[in-house]
Amino acid sequence: MPVGTQGTVKAMLPRDLLNDLDAKIILGNTYHLFLRPGLETVRNLGGLHKFMNWPRAILTDSGGFQVFSLDTLRKVTDEGVLFRSHLNGDQHLFTPESTIDVQLALGSDIMTVLDECLAYPASHEAARVSTERTLRWARAGYGHYRRSADGQHACFPIVQGSMFPDLRRHCAQELLSLEAQGYAIGGLSVGEPRALSLEMTEITTPLLPVDRPRYVMGVGMPEELPQYVARGVDMMDCVLPSRNARNGYLFTSQGRVIIKQSQYKDDPEPVDETCPCYACRNFSRAYLRHLFLAGEMTFSILATLHNLYRYLDIMRRMREAILVGEFPAFLRAQRGTMVS
Ligand SMILES: [Zn+2]
Repeated sequence: MPVGTQGTVKAMLPRDLLNDLDAKIILGNTYHLFLRPGLETVRNLGGLHKFMNWPRAILTDSGGFQVFSLDTLRKVTDEGVLFRSHLNGDQHLFTPESTIDVQLALGSDIMTVLDECLAYPASHEAARVSTERTLRWARAGYGHYRRSADGQHACFPIVQGSMFPDLRRHCAQELLSLEAQGYAIGGLSVGEPRALSLEMTEITTPLLPVDRPRYVMGVGMPEELPQYVARGVDMMDCVLPSRNARNGYLFTSQGRVIIKQSQYKDDPEPVDETCPCYACRNFSRAYLRHLFLAGEMTFSILATLHNLYRYLDIMRRMREAILVGEFPAFLRAQRGTMVS
């Protein structure tokens, strides 16, 4: 899922997401949209789909991850999380119920329940207390969702448990009783080694229903996507393709291209000669490097288009391989060729 933090995937028009990228779903951030432009504005203008003119699916996070990233600006209680806006310092409270209400007002297709996202590393005791709180919030939030939703929205609880297998298992097993339409795995990509994120995923996915989507939040590098899929993951989101694009860091089938490097000054080749995206079909590395160094907006647009194409193409090729029963061969081939 391309990440559309503030009601837009940065540097992309919805037209590009639809036509060039054929993205089926994007992610919106509840915390950011709640603060700006604010819930009433989005609701009065017909919900997030209409507001940003995006006709396909939108998944929203619960706001928890952003609030927990605020560090000094928050206070966690059993009721919810009290925080100050990073924009103007106003105080707000997110509760399991209120974050569902916010996501319903946005018109999200897949909502997520409020969870506590711990920093890494955390002690087992701190993680245990936090996991229990996440479970209480999940029951409260999901109950509120059941009473409030009209059947048009799905809602995923989030498995937490820091980097402790026993807590991850406990959390997943408890959440199963909600019989949700899908499950998210959160609390990863918070600074732990990447092998550990994969290990926690591998412990958790077998416990979740096979016939429902499993969503790992906030991963990963292109070469990691098949590793997650191999562990039973269906959905992922990450800011890496778009953020790195704007910073001049391009993902290609031959590894990364850091476009500012002088080796590309007179390079007539596309970023990735095997890539059929608009940027690669029409522009040279030399031109993209020039745009980057000149600080032109067009660079961000072309680079984001390419990086998102690369990510979505990897996912597309995996779906095709799975459908024809060739995913193991895909994985073996990928191990041989894909480089970071
Ligand atoms: Zn491309």
